[in-house]
Formats: sequence, structure tokens, C-alpha cells
Amino acid sequence: TDFKSDKQPTWCPGCGDFGTMNGMMKALAETGNDPDNTFIVAGIGCSGKIGTYMHSYALHGVHGRALPVGIGVKMANPDLEVMVSGGDGDGYSIGAGHFIHAVRRNVDMSYVVMDNRIYGLTKGQASPTSREDFETSTSPDGPNQPPVNPKALALASGATFIAQSFSSNAQRHAEIVKQAVEHDGFGFVNVYSPCVTFNDVDTYDYFRDAIVDLDDTDHDPADRDQAKDKILESDKEYMGVLYQDEDSVPFEEREGVEGSMAEIPDGAPEGAMDLVREFY
Ligand code: SF4
Repeated sequence: TDFKSDKQPTWCPGCGDFGTMNGMMKALAETGNDPDNTFIVAGIGCSGKIGTYMHSYALHGVHGRALPVGIGVKMANPDLEVMVSGGDGDGYSIGAGHFIHAVRRNVDMSYVVMDNRIYGLTKGQASPTSREDFETSTSPDGPNQPPVNPKALALASGATFIAQSFSSNAQRHAEIVKQAVEHDGFGFVNVYSPCVTFNDVDTYDYFRDAIVDLDDTDHDPADRDQAKDKILESDKEYMGVLYQDEDSVPFEEREGVEGSMAEIPDGAPEGAMDLVREFY
């Protein structure tokens, strides 16, 4: 797509992040966006390199801080399509506080998390989503604590769109990210994006066997109680839209908050980056 940059990714061959990124590019293109109106904000980690590999405006944020940076970009220029991307270590550890508040603020943007249940860039330490008994260099007997459930955290924080995807299922993954982009509000997608180098338990084979596609069930994403039950089933790996509030009103459209987003003056420079520079 137009969203592919000429930089060759340095991700390990077979890394799930390739599939995750391809789906993001496809979803952006299919929702009528192009590199001129798209702004990717990345966190730190293997996933954080995505802004270099995609052809769009991009900013490599501070560790765990990609979401507030993304919200700032959207406030500076509400006409931009803002997509924030990061990993489980970045988003659910140091970034967990920002995650909760971004979810409840419900700004019209999307957040795609490449969840491989390990710290890859720093060579294999247990992450917030690692299994309780996963033996890593920092947890030789396993972390011995339950993993963070980011979808439960999102639901409890007032999320209006929660989805789970799998990087290896190209078509379905792109569809799910597309729904997050189209959602009126904060579209959150957790993506199983296997780390082939440091995680030998949450592998492609594991996910292929374990995943149940919600489209093959009678799940109703508009039903919050059904969503809660599915999200809390710790022995199941679901794929699809778990929850969507069809009546979601983005933060910037709520009564009383008009004026908190920047208004682009007539005659302002047309390039997205120029607009951001001008605002700051
Ligand atoms: Fe991907 Fe893991 Fe390699 Fe990082 S270390 S690029 S997450 S396979």
C-alpha cells in the first residue's frame, strides 16, 4: 500500500509485528486514509520501530507515553487520523496509567498493541502479559503473578471499543483494525503478535489452536455483560470485536468540551507536520 516506507524492517524474520503492521496499513487504506492525513505515534520496544517502516507522519514517543503524545497530536489537528501503536511491555507496564485515562477519555483515535507477552527488544524478560509460569531470564521460576488482562482493564475503565486480533490471520486482523479506525471514539485492539525469538510458549501454533473467532459464535459486541464474561474467561483466546458501544460520543464532540481541541485557521499550512509544528 501507499503506507509502506522504503525502510527494511529489522524485526527478526517471522516476527508477528510484520503481520500486525500490514493489517494496520490495509485498514488505514481501506478506511479512505492516506499518508498525508495519517499520524502514527509509537512507543518504545520492537513494536516502536513501526513509525519508521510506515510511510506517514510519525513520532517515536517516550517509553509508555505514546498515548498522551497521540492525544496531543489529535488535539493539535483533529483532522488527522491518529493511530498509536506499541507493545505489551510499553503499554501495560510503564504505560498502564496512561492507558486507563486514554480509554476513559475516548478521543477519536485508535490504539493497536502488539502483544507478544515478552520484552523482545531487551532480550526476553517477563512482561505484564507473560504467563504466570513462563520461565524467562528475569523469572527463572515464572513471574508467579497473574498476567495483566488489558481488555478487562479497558472495560473497567469505560472503553467504548475493545477488540482482540491475531497478526497471522491477515484478512481478519485488517478487518478488526478497520472497525477500530471507523469507531467513533477510542478504538482499542490488542493483537497477538508472536515473538519468535524469545517466547516459546505463546507461539503461532499455540494461538492457531487456541483462538476462537467471535464471528463463529453468537457473541453480541453491543452487550457489555457478554463482553465482560468473554474477557474474564482466562482459559480462552478470542478474536474479534468483544465490545462496542454503538452510542459512543468521542471526547471532542461532547457538550462542554468544544474548544479544547485546536481549530485550524484558514490559510494554515496544508502538511500535517507543519500544522503540528505551528501548534507547538
Ligand atoms: Fe519480534 Fe521478538 Fe524479534 Fe523483537 S525480538 S523483532 S518481538 S521476534
